[in-house]
Amino acid sequence: MAHTFESLTAWQVMLAGLVFFGGIYLLFGIATWLLTRYVLPALGWGGVLDTRPLVPGQLRRELTQSSVSILIFGLGMIFPWGLLQLGWAHLDPDAGGWQIFLEILVLVAWNDVHFWVNHRLLHTRLLRRFHLPHHRSVVTTPFSTYSFHPLEALMLGNVILLPMVLHDFSFWSLFSVPLFSLFFNCVGHANYDFFPRVSYAHWFAASRRHHLHHACYNGNYGFQFTFMDRLFRTRLPADAASAQLAMAGRRGGVERSV
Ligand SMILES: [Zn+2]
Ligand SMILES: [Zn+2]
Repeated sequence: MAHTFESLTAWQVMLAGLVFFGGIYLLFGIATWLLTRYVLPALGWGGVLDTRPLVPGQLRRELTQSSVSILIFGLGMIFPWGLLQLGWAHLDPDAGGWQIFLEILVLVAWNDVHFWVNHRLLHTRLLRRFHLPHHRSVVTTPFSTYSFHPLEALMLGNVILLPMVLHDFSFWSLFSVPLFSLFFNCVGHANYDFFPRVSYAHWFAASRRHHLHHACYNGNYGFQFTFMDRLFRTRLPADAASAQLAMAGRRGGVERSV
């Protein structure tokens, strides 16, 4: 697979990238939507986090913004491919199962560091206007995942470039990054508490933490894990949005926090 990827032309790489990112966005988004809107509620498993209604036209906006991100991620495949062509990075075609497993663990941890740093930068006064398109989704959906400003898509999309120049990864380890990243992203934006009994700090409570990020705007900048927010003391308390949600519940209307 490594040789196949390297032997593609630039146009083939970009076309494959577009089909890949467009495909997984729709597939993961629709699967999460069906799971959290129909399957899990029917089973009595978990519950909706934020019962406020979506803003009119929200889904259409999320799909439109996401299609620009898909364009950037897809065409952006030229960068990892380019690193290989230039010989600045190499793939390890002989990596065994254990090596691939460990590489994926490292990339999962790196993804959280990379996300926290870029996300925190996007919350600075200088860059905040490039992050507001994502935060227009106060009550999130599984289609909020790629709903960014193009600059945010560029910042988040470069996650594998630095690891690639530092280590010869297996093709499959690198291939896993957009998949696990979108999986965690769908969990984070599902607006669904999958495991209500686990503590707020638990790995399985990631959807609660990112829901609070959208409800409160500041704090909880991490992705799937909490170590970066704990390290930099940017965690939100578990009840940070309780007053806001209770007020919206009493009004029965839409509450915009941004
Ligand atoms: Zn944010
Ligand atoms: Zn978000």
